Amino acid sequence: MELKASKTRLAHTLENYENQKAGFDFLGFNIRQYKVGKYTSGRDTKGRLLGFKTLVTPSKESQERHYRRICEEIEKLKGQSQAVLISKLNPIIRGWCNYFSTGVSKRIFTKLSYLTSWKLWKWGVKRHQNKGRKWISSKYFRTIGGDNWTFATSREGSNPMVLMKHSQTAIVRHVKVKGDKSPYDGDLIYWSSRRGTHPEMPKPTASLLKKQKGKCAHCGLFFRDGDLIEVDHIIPKSRGGKNEYKNNQLLHRHCHDEKSRTDGSYSKGVSIIPENYRWENDMLVTC
Ligand SMILES: [Zn+2]
Repeated sequence: MELKASKTRLAHTLENYENQKAGFDFLGFNIRQYKVGKYTSGRDTKGRLLGFKTLVTPSKESQERHYRRICEEIEKLKGQSQAVLISKLNPIIRGWCNYFSTGVSKRIFTKLSYLTSWKLWKWGVKRHQNKGRKWISSKYFRTIGGDNWTFATSREGSNPMVLMKHSQTAIVRHVKVKGDKSPYDGDLIYWSSRRGTHPEMPKPTASLLKKQKGKCAHCGLFFRDGDLIEVDHIIPKSRGGKNEYKNNQLLHRHCHDEKSRTDGSYSKGVSIIPENYRWENDMLVTC
C-alpha cells in the first residue's frame, strides 16, 4: 500500500500526543485505545494481557454529517405528510446504522435517536403552532415497545408507518481476521476499490468499485464486507437504458430497492459477489 505524505499522520492510539487527541479516523470510524485493568484488557495473539482495549466507533465528523443529513431532509419535507417523511428518513437511518453496527456504538446510537426525536418534535410544533403539546405528541408519536417517543402514523391508517430508531440497532461484534491470511484474501471490496482490479472480482465490477471510490452511489457510504451489493442501471432498461459500463453503478441492495421503487425499473438486482464466495464472520471465503 502506498501512503501519501500529505494524507498520512502518525497517530498515537492510546495517549494524547502533542495536543493531538489519541486515536484516528478511518473510513468514518474513530479508532482509539483505552487503558484498562487486567479483567477487561485485550490480549495479544498469544493470550498475553495488553493493558488496553481497542474501541471502534463512528467518528465525530461522521455522526455530525449523518445528523445534518437528517435535519436537512426534515427541513426539505416540511410541507409533506408524516408518512412521506418516515419513508425518506428510514433508509437514511438504516443505512448509517448498518454501516456502523460493527462499531461499539450503543451510546452514540442512543444519542442520535434522541436528537432525531427532538428534531421531529420541533417539526410537529412548527406545523401546528396553535395546538398544545399534548395534541402534537398524540398526533405524531406513539408508544411502541415501551418507548413513548416513537414517530409513527396512526394505527387506524391502512398502512401504518414507524420511523426506525438508531437505538434499535443490534451491535455486531467484529470478528478479527484469523492467523496469517493476507488482507488480499479477505478484503475483496477494499482491494478492488483501490486497484480497480482483483483476481477474484469480475473486471467490470472492480472498475466500478474504483470509479465509485468504494462507495454506494445512492447513499454515499462505503461498501463493507457483508454488504449485499448489486449492479443498477442508472437509466432503467424500461426507459431505454442499456446494459453497458457507463450506465452501470453499484448500490447496496436496500438502496437499490429504494431506487427501483421510484425510477420505474422492474428487474431485481443481481449480487456482485462471485458465486464461489460466501460471507463468513465478515470475511469473504471461497466455497
Ligand atoms: Zn447505499
